[in-house]
Amino acid sequence: MTMQTIGVIGAGTMGNGIAQVFAQAGFDVRLVDVAAAMLDRARTTVEKSLAKFVEKGRLSPSDRDATLARLSTHLTLGALADADYVVEAIVEDARAKRELFAQLDAITRPDVILSSNTSSISITLLGAATKRPDRVLGMHFMNPVPLMTLVELIRGQSTSDDAMRVATDLCTRLGKNGVEAADYPGFIANRILMPMLNEAFYAVMEGVGTPDAIDAVMKGGMNHPMGPLTLADFIGLDVCLAILTVLHEGLGDPKYRPCPLLRRMVAAGHLGRKSGRGFYVYA
Ligand code: NAD
Repeated sequence: MTMQTIGVIGAGTMGNGIAQVFAQAGFDVRLVDVAAAMLDRARTTVEKSLAKFVEKGRLSPSDRDATLARLSTHLTLGALADADYVVEAIVEDARAKRELFAQLDAITRPDVILSSNTSSISITLLGAATKRPDRVLGMHFMNPVPLMTLVELIRGQSTSDDAMRVATDLCTRLGKNGVEAADYPGFIANRILMPMLNEAFYAVMEGVGTPDAIDAVMKGGMNHPMGPLTLADFIGLDVCLAILTVLHEGLGDPKYRPCPLLRRMVAAGHLGRKSGRGFYVYA
């Protein structure tokens, strides 16, 4: 099957980046969100990101224009009726994702692969909401999508070899490297990353160090490019809490218990960079 039209659902932090990399690679992209404001913001974000590529001489102005022309935005899922491949990137909420997968199953052609950018939710659970669990898989991009080359590809209980192969080939076409992970909570990336971020939250809560001091130790002492609290603000503290909850409930081990300070900050609406305030304050 020739693959030309890609559906991306969710135009937030991740969805706009995913839409951009597919459009840059020559695909027609239909980006869908329930919020018109998010679609407007996504287009502005993509325009700014492409402008940086042009400034650095990595993209010609005509390729930038062609990329933008391949990206369309929509408020309803009906726009995906003729999509050849779908990437879901809505909120990290199992119920919302399951409902969406059931709707996508009804709207898209039966041969279309439905993938999820979930950070932690079971791919098997999402596949079970459809009549095509062999064509449901995880396609977990890293943030910021246009710059990060790794994509975690998650094989659910029923995902076929053929679907995994198609996703691997797509990663190559996007200039990215797909690495397979099994369907356990948090897969590989967040199983390892989130406990470290959670420990940094506890360290702030217990006064072991200020956010600046903790980030400075991990950058200067461990050679991490970004401190854990800067990274958590970048990911979104609500997203971190959702992932830690999946790890805690799914693996049943108290070592994954989300830090109470994280819960309090999310309750206050201090979600990190996207809300203007998290462990740091943003202009
Ligand atoms: P976000 O909160 O920035 O954006 C979510 C978007 O989904 C919003 O624009 C919202 O309006 C939209 N939405 C919600 N329900 C919808 C529905 N039913 N139909 C259409 N649109 C809907 O979230 P995000 O950070 O972009 O995360 C999206 C997904 O990507 C999550 O599963 C998350 O775990 C995963 N992820 C996030 C990161 C990260 O660094 N933030 C990294 C990798 C993966």
